[in-house]
Amino acid sequence: MPSARPPALPGDPVSAIRTPALIVDLDAFEANIARMRAFVQDSGLRLRAHAKTHKSADIARIQMRDGGACGVCCQKVSEAEALVEAGVTDILVSNEITGTARAEALARLAERARIGVCVDSLEGVAELAAATAHHDTELSVLVEVDVGAGRCGVAPGAAAVPLARAIAAAPGLIFGGLQAYQGSLQHIADPAARAAAAKAAAQATRDTLKALHAEGFDCATVGGAGTGSFRLDSGLGQVNELQCGSYIFMDADYDRIEEIGGGRPGGMENALFILTEVMSTAVPGKAVCDAGLKAMSLDSGLPRLDAEGLSYLVASDEHGEIADPDDRLARGDRLRLVPGHCDPTCNLYDHYVAVRGDTVEAIWPVTARGCLW
Ligand code: PLP
Ligand code: MN
Repeated sequence: MPSARPPALPGDPVSAIRTPALIVDLDAFEANIARMRAFVQDSGLRLRAHAKTHKSADIARIQMRDGGACGVCCQKVSEAEALVEAGVTDILVSNEITGTARAEALARLAERARIGVCVDSLEGVAELAAATAHHDTELSVLVEVDVGAGRCGVAPGAAAVPLARAIAAAPGLIFGGLQAYQGSLQHIADPAARAAAAKAAAQATRDTLKALHAEGFDCATVGGAGTGSFRLDSGLGQVNELQCGSYIFMDADYDRIEEIGGGRPGGMENALFILTEVMSTAVPGKAVCDAGLKAMSLDSGLPRLDAEGLSYLVASDEHGEIADPDDRLARGDRLRLVPGHCDPTCNLYDHYVAVRGDTVEAIWPVTARGCLW
């Protein structure tokens, strides 16, 4: 349960929001949701939006109701538990899980929702098979293939076959297809280099599909693609279920990424901001705001200030130093920061403050905040 009191209530003016606060600009957010819905409608692909970005049941519901999503992905079992508890009905854990306790938890969740999960080991299949037998439930299981990131997943080609066979042989497991996500290509800034990595991932996926097909296995789902690659991946024709997450919010890191031919990834715009307040202008040429490194993740660099001529220089725990060469800022002024990396930033907050223009329209809990198990 979120612990802190919300930074505002619906109907409050934006000027009354307690800072620092995690702000969703609803006009931009809804435009991103509509862009992705149009993309999946035109491409004929499915969207299974990644909920690791937002960890919010409200946003998952919006993605499924208005955004063209057939369901969502989670990265962790406890994240899936929190979202099912809040009413989300179709979740793929797009990750490997270990141990009986997690397998049992997923098998139990399958009593209340459609649940899928990934494997890259026979031990993983055995744990899931035992758990579904115990609970008399079904899980859809995807075999993860390493399509270039070198993180998890079996090698492309025939290595997927024994896993597919073991899944198909287990009464409570359904062989769902492949997980073919290439994480490291998403943030390659150079469009041509990103396209080359996407092409290599598609080739690895094709080789694996061919090896499975030769043994009589068809893949209903081939999951993959993120915000930095979904247009490329769709054109390459292997992935049929897009797992984009960051597209709803974007961040300063994704602002550096260009599509081939120019433009932002998928034409998406910034919809997530940290609202911060200037607390000191005592030192000439500088302003200090109340959003430091506890207010946003810095793993992908400093935030971008959503204001001309000002830049965020240094973050300490509770202070953000801003270069203000013309001394334009005054104590109490409010600014919007675009965080460097949206997903870990959202995990720092208990609530989203959803705003339209000058008014707070909704408060959404970060339902699965801190769910790391
Ligand atoms: N799918 C998987 C398996 C991921 O791990 C991630 C993010 O890391 C995504 C999809 C979504 O990527 P993005 O937020 O770049 O759209
Ligand atoms: Mn991310």
